[in-house]
Amino acid sequence: DTNDIGFMAVKLATEAAGESLKDGAAVSLAPGIYFRVELCGITGHKQLAADSGIVIKPSEAVAVGAAMVRVFNEHGDRTDRKKARLKYLIDKWGVEKFLAEAQKKLAFPLVKFPLAQCVKRPASIKHGHVGVYRQSQPGKNYIGVVIPVGVMSTKQMRRVADLAQNYGSGNLRLTPWQNLLLPDVPDGFVETVKRQLVRIGFYHEATNILGGLVACTGNTGCKWAATDTKGQAVALGAHLNQRLRLDHPINIHLTGCPNSCAQHYVGDIGLQGVKVNVGGESVEGYNVVFGGGVGAEAGIGKQVFTGISFDELPTLLERVLKTYLAQRAPHETFAAFTRRHEVKQLQEMFSQ
Ligand code: SF4
Repeated sequence: DTNDIGFMAVKLATEAAGESLKDGAAVSLAPGIYFRVELCGITGHKQLAADSGIVIKPSEAVAVGAAMVRVFNEHGDRTDRKKARLKYLIDKWGVEKFLAEAQKKLAFPLVKFPLAQCVKRPASIKHGHVGVYRQSQPGKNYIGVVIPVGVMSTKQMRRVADLAQNYGSGNLRLTPWQNLLLPDVPDGFVETVKRQLVRIGFYHEATNILGGLVACTGNTGCKWAATDTKGQAVALGAHLNQRLRLDHPINIHLTGCPNSCAQHYVGDIGLQGVKVNVGGESVEGYNVVFGGGVGAEAGIGKQVFTGISFDELPTLLERVLKTYLAQRAPHETFAAFTRRHEVKQLQEMFSQ
């Protein structure tokens, strides 16, 4: 949903015929797993990725990605930070021309195939990877580990690597939610690994507030940042977690500037760092966006509050979530609740 070039896994249940982009010939597609190519996600500019009409084999992904990046390098405008994204080349050319140029750089044909004839992967469960889950391989489990705002010390990294080496298959995977997956843990080692993770200072379970708390680098490491996103995310998460319990998971994304590395427009709560004038003094604060989402809940959030100082933010969001809990329809998610109200209504409701 969110990337310039994305590969979305799908299944073909039966043999089917696609159309070669190279010469229009029919291409036989055996049953199995493929990727659909999605293009032009750029959520900081309020645009989600769209299906390009192409399916590729997983083994072709690197070559296709490289061909597309080369086309962008040769023809995109990389001199202007605000336009240096694939969206702007495709806005100018259209998808067909972009794919035709990528095809020229590939030895195998790109294959057009209708999205409707693909079996999509099951909808992902929000915060669903946190905890212990059985793999399809008998006797194996993966453990989803919460790494608060993705920050690990080198000592912690080494100890997690040791766990993967000693109890798993030596593999670790990172998630877009700044958490970590430790796969291939045999049944008999699961409890040991859970205990070790707690000793290292990580969690294998999280509340509906802390499981999807994401922050970009912020002003401790990025020159563009207006705010200390990671430090403030941890403080904000702790404040809300002490005062609230939610029965639906929410994602909270803090990003330090409009570049939106933490994708604030697709968080249930998105926060974009800004400088705020308080009594003549410039302090750190946020523009506040509600109602974004990805996957089955895909949508761009809407900005409801502008320039809230960080001092005020935790109490504002506590009030927002308590109001949502009090006024929502039964089982209504925060995204659904905020999407069915206009900005003005939300401002009034949350300001009382
Ligand atoms: S969103 Fe802005 S502040 Fe945050 S890491 Fe990206 S460029 Fe830096």
